[in-house]
Amino acid sequence: MLDQKNPSDPAEGSQTGPAYLCLHGHFYQPPREDPFTELLPIEPGATPFANYNEKITTECYLPNAEAGNFDEINYDLGPTLAAWLEDAHPDVYQRIIDADRHNIARYGVGNAMAQAYNHTILPLANARDKRTQIVWGLSDFRHRYGRDATGMWLAETAVDIETLDLLAQYGVSYTILAPWQAATPVDPTEPYIVRLLDGRSITVFFYNAPLSGGVSFDWNTTSNADLFAASYLPDHLVKSKRESGEAQLILIATDGELYGHHKPWRDKFLEHLVHTGAPSFGFEVCTLERYMRMHPATKEVALRVPSAWSCGHGVARWDTGCECTEGDSSWKGKLRQALQHLAMHTDRLFEQYTAETLADPWAARNAYLPVRNGWETLESFWTSYGRHAGPPADPLLEQRTLLLLEAQYYTQCSFTSCGFFFEDLDRIEPRNDIAFARRAISLTWQALGIDLQPDFVNELRAAKSWRSSLTGADIYRQLPIVRPDQLPPLPLPQAEDVDEEENIA
Ligand SMILES: [Zn+2]
Repeated sequence: MLDQKNPSDPAEGSQTGPAYLCLHGHFYQPPREDPFTELLPIEPGATPFANYNEKITTECYLPNAEAGNFDEINYDLGPTLAAWLEDAHPDVYQRIIDADRHNIARYGVGNAMAQAYNHTILPLANARDKRTQIVWGLSDFRHRYGRDATGMWLAETAVDIETLDLLAQYGVSYTILAPWQAATPVDPTEPYIVRLLDGRSITVFFYNAPLSGGVSFDWNTTSNADLFAASYLPDHLVKSKRESGEAQLILIATDGELYGHHKPWRDKFLEHLVHTGAPSFGFEVCTLERYMRMHPATKEVALRVPSAWSCGHGVARWDTGCECTEGDSSWKGKLRQALQHLAMHTDRLFEQYTAETLADPWAARNAYLPVRNGWETLESFWTSYGRHAGPPADPLLEQRTLLLLEAQYYTQCSFTSCGFFFEDLDRIEPRNDIAFARRAISLTWQALGIDLQPDFVNELRAAKSWRSSLTGADIYRQLPIVRPDQLPPLPLPQAEDVDEEENIA
């Protein structure tokens, strides 16, 4: 339902410059579907719900959608979560998508941002993979919202210049970063321009770190929305801007699941803040593109790259590890190396074995997502990307190409950042990245009869859990059994392997 409320202009009838408030929610969960069945396993931790997606829907997505909160905030809904929600709770999904349409009807601009597809840490990806992640994120957005995205949320706000430049090349005009990602101190109450290559640029909004942290981690901050608007928010406005009549924006960016799941009742806090609390105390609730239209960035900023919002160690948290996670994080570098070597193999085979069927295999990969998800026909895909402007004459060659494209899809999934975020290897998130990699191995095997398992599993032995001493190879061997035509049997570990493992450890 369209909200007809006219937000009051805080400048009207007052002596001060307008103050705007934007709340951005990053709605996303690590994908946990079994890549062979594409089903979510039962998750005992979520009892009485069948799994965490169900639990979080009840606690967060549903109540926020019912309260009309998505209409008032800025948000991104991760593609893998959106796909699940669309299927499992189409009504909730539709309310979230409609919020963007309502904003377009009210203001001429939407309030949803796209997300790089697999929640990959883009500065750690090569240029080709960055491009695919961005293009897939944009196609997913176009399919769901019926328009081109103008903003993109980057996983963990991880950024480097190449990533931003690719965003600009694909027509994305803004993103959100943490203030410490700027090379010099910034005033987060206004957006900035980042200069890129060949005259391109992008607008960057820096969120208010103390307030975003407060909403995320401090219960007292969010116990009362009126109090928050009356006493916390004004302290973060720039006094000189107030006095000179200049507009300013307070942006609070957090994980969306905070509003009701991580913290019960924060959906109510959000509802009251955006509908009543903030407007009552002179703040106009606003979204980012709308703000950018009214008050475009005028100042430029240089960035500290690579960097991310989680900590001050660049992107080391997802690469070689950093001191922000407990215990020995050397498993992260080993797991990443194994996945990167596997990707090198699957990429080489993909390029080699699709040369005779695809005009440009990498352009075809970028165009593959809508085809695999059934949003575009296979016929139109082959017309645009087939080497001979159509499918190969030999149906076996067509089948092989599609299996290799699907292997590429799962190779991309295997770099989901959640696998590297937490402290230990022996957790569901790294296990899932290994499971995605195994699916890519299986598809390559089905396409070509080439088994990439032995090398991959051998490399995984170097990644070791400091908590349980399980290695990546042990975790691989524990994955659910699949049909013999999907994967060849894995040789049992040899005695000398065990010795070697001990030496490595
Ligand atoms: Zn760190």
